[in-house]
Amino acid sequence: MERLEKVVIIGSGPAGLTAALYGARARLEPLVFAGTSPGGQLMTTTDVENYPGFPEGILGPDLMMKMREQAERFGARIVDDDVVAVHLQNHPFTVRTGRGEEVRTLSLIVATGASPRRLGLESESKFFGRGVSTCATCDGWFFREKVVCVIGGGDSAMEESLYLTHHARKVYVIHRRDQLRASKIMQERAFANPKIEFIWNSVVTEVLGDGAVSGVRLRNVKSGDETVLPVDGVFLAIGHEPNTGLFKGQLELDERGYVKVDPFQRTSVAGVFAAGDCHDHTFRQAVTAAGFGCAAAIMCERWLGDLAYHGYEALAASHPFPKDK
Ligand code: NAP
Repeated sequence: MERLEKVVIIGSGPAGLTAALYGARARLEPLVFAGTSPGGQLMTTTDVENYPGFPEGILGPDLMMKMREQAERFGARIVDDDVVAVHLQNHPFTVRTGRGEEVRTLSLIVATGASPRRLGLESESKFFGRGVSTCATCDGWFFREKVVCVIGGGDSAMEESLYLTHHARKVYVIHRRDQLRASKIMQERAFANPKIEFIWNSVVTEVLGDGAVSGVRLRNVKSGDETVLPVDGVFLAIGHEPNTGLFKGQLELDERGYVKVDPFQRTSVAGVFAAGDCHDHTFRQAVTAAGFGCAAAIMCERWLGDLAYHGYEALAASHPFPKDK
């Protein structure tokens, strides 16, 4: 007979793997769909210096490997497959994977994270993967001794720019305002780096090139002046969009597409919890994602206890989310 899972976790960043660790230690035998590019955003990061417990820092991929090993050690089953559909209207819920597998589950933890935002320019799409990138650690190597630009003014933009100075001979940071959003320590490092030059109050209106990227067209948002900046590569670091398309029409999302949760990680559907960057647009740190994953797993375990006692209909009828309805 088809197995009925106690809990399925979608996602394998810090939120998903921490939920898996706690779920496994609660003997829920979690089934984790890690995706075909497992590990989440930290896989494309170099040094993580602010995850507690690693005073010398740790490489993002190494941290994720350790989290995965730790969850597996306690019995989490981690499958490197994407989830392509979920059905949350009926309980038990159904999850369908990219390989065509269908899994039924009593509860679900959504930890699908977020993906890098794009500018939305036609020329950006044309050159994407051929000079336009969202990942300096993946593609920086191709720009040895070249000139590149990074778009954005947050921590990611500073991190990407600093990383790119190891390869490129010059890195422009193009920011739409005259003040950075990045943390002070990252700003200081970027300002101190002689290879980095800032272009303020400017937006990219077109990526230029013929076969390969040769430059970007800039518009100064204050003066309206247009200029062309010759560059060989363009790195986007302009924030993220939540990976929540799967849940549209099934879970309540906010106007930007983030999953709505209550303070106990409960979503609008009883038995479905969410953790990490798919709902959190405030903190967006590895350590907070891990914390949300822990909270989601603990709440899920308690909910499964209630389910065994009361049954789904009763729990759905008394589901306290959202509070104002
Ligand atoms: P972010 O903090 O949201 O910054 C995005 C930047 O892109 C902002 O400067 C924003 O400009 C700009 N931007 C957004 N849309 C744009 C558009 N369409 N055109 C031009 N510019 C645009 O995102 P993030 O840098 O990816 O950081 C996300 C989170 O991860 C943050 O909480 C950050 O602290 C954390 N993080 C931490 C580290 C670290 O501690 N080392 C490293 C990476 C990320 P405005 O400023 O004008 O809004």
